[in-house]
Amino acid sequence: MTSKEGCNRFKNQVVVVTASTDGIGFAIARRIASEGAVVVISSRCKANVDEAVKKLESEGLNVKGVQCHVGNKEERMDLLRTATNNFKEKIDCLISNAAVSPYAGPTVDTPEPIFDKIFETNLKSSFLLTQDFRDWIKPNGNILYISSYIGYTPRQPLGVYAISKTALFGLTRAIAHDMWQQGKIRVNCIAPGIIQTRFSEVIWKDEETFEDIKKEIIMERAGRSEEIAGAAAFLCSSDGSYVTGETLVVGGGVTSRL
Ligand code: NAP
Repeated sequence: MTSKEGCNRFKNQVVVVTASTDGIGFAIARRIASEGAVVVISSRCKANVDEAVKKLESEGLNVKGVQCHVGNKEERMDLLRTATNNFKEKIDCLISNAAVSPYAGPTVDTPEPIFDKIFETNLKSSFLLTQDFRDWIKPNGNILYISSYIGYTPRQPLGVYAISKTALFGLTRAIAHDMWQQGKIRVNCIAPGIIQTRFSEVIWKDEETFEDIKKEIIMERAGRSEEIAGAAAFLCSSDGSYVTGETLVVGGGVTSRL
């Protein structure tokens, strides 16, 4: 799914999406570019960036690509430099999407370096990207964080990953106050349910495993990245003009309350 017919809500805008060479980030980049934006895509691996740029350009979309591991300060600066045309122009929207989930097991047994890695990538990088970009987002612009439904039900085997996602709900609220005061910038968050991407393959790919998990989802299916992209486009466009500090669950009715 790309733009709905006649939908051109991001015309002449510049939008940055991190971790956008695959999965949800790629779908968001594609959707927003198809609604008229120049989208800056990025991820850790240059070859992945080049491939994603090529694919989107072949669809007639206007994209730029730059390598950016969100935990790397210098690469975040490269992202900022590319997005702002070498610190000459402000952007309209920052979408922070990167996350890792390198551990499965009892929460209490999570090794400290793994705990730190999860929080560095999933929470701190969103905070630091916000600090890096705060003065480079136009008034009435947007920031969007990608959390997870699991942030509402933190428990093993992905306990620390889930807690990092819970913390993003808090970050959204706290930063929304600051950014509104700074420049009428709205800050929101999406908590996807189970979405069919490489990241979550272990959950949805095997039909037998997914059979049990499906019972927790009212719509009894996994979602598609494009279904998150549609929600992202809503929140970051003028259609979401009275929404800030919120987390929107897009999860087919999966349990989503703390
Ligand atoms: P995915 O399909 O595995 O895509 C991950 C993307 O992130 C790739 O482009 C990857 O490219 C990039 N990436 C990974 N680590 C990065 C880092 N440190 N810095 C920059 N880029 C990085 O994953 P996804 O399912 O779309 O997940 C995207 C977001 O949605 C994550 O925040 C995840 O927690 C959240 N989410 C996903 C689900 C789900 O069921 N899929 C559910 C809830 C929430 P490189 O390898 O080139 O870096």
